[in-house]
Amino acid sequence: MKRQIFNLNGKITFINNEPSKPSPNLPVSIYLAKLVEDVARITNLSININSTTGGLHSKTSFHYHGMAIDINLIDGKKIDDPANFSNVQKFQLAASQHKDIGECFGPFINIRKRGNKKTQKPQMRTKHLNHLHISSQR
Ligand SMILES: [Zn+2]
Repeated sequence: MKRQIFNLNGKITFINNEPSKPSPNLPVSIYLAKLVEDVARITNLSININSTTGGLHSKTSFHYHGMAIDINLIDGKKIDDPANFSNVQKFQLAASQHKDIGECFGPFINIRKRGNKKTQKPQMRTKHLNHLHISSQR
């Protein structure tokens, strides 16, 4: 089952960082949609989703199955803006602790979870310094 992510009165925006490319506001797994909304609510942070199923990702990426999103802005600031580091850390922490998290990659936390087994993936960090990658397990 898929649905679009709610914008939570503008708290969640969907602006593609490549303006010529289609809107990232596309249907995703209902578990991923709920996860993203939950984390935005819990942290009270606004986010911009710049990719869902579009964009370029690794061949086996969860993006192609509607199970992953990328976030390039939190509270209107870039992920790699030092003024944003505490927000980015707060968002990653809440996402990594969500029951349905599959992958949480970014500057501070890099984990993959299958069932209840969490694995550290420090090698993912260098590719996720300017965006957060969030996927759900189902
Ligand atoms: Zn991604």
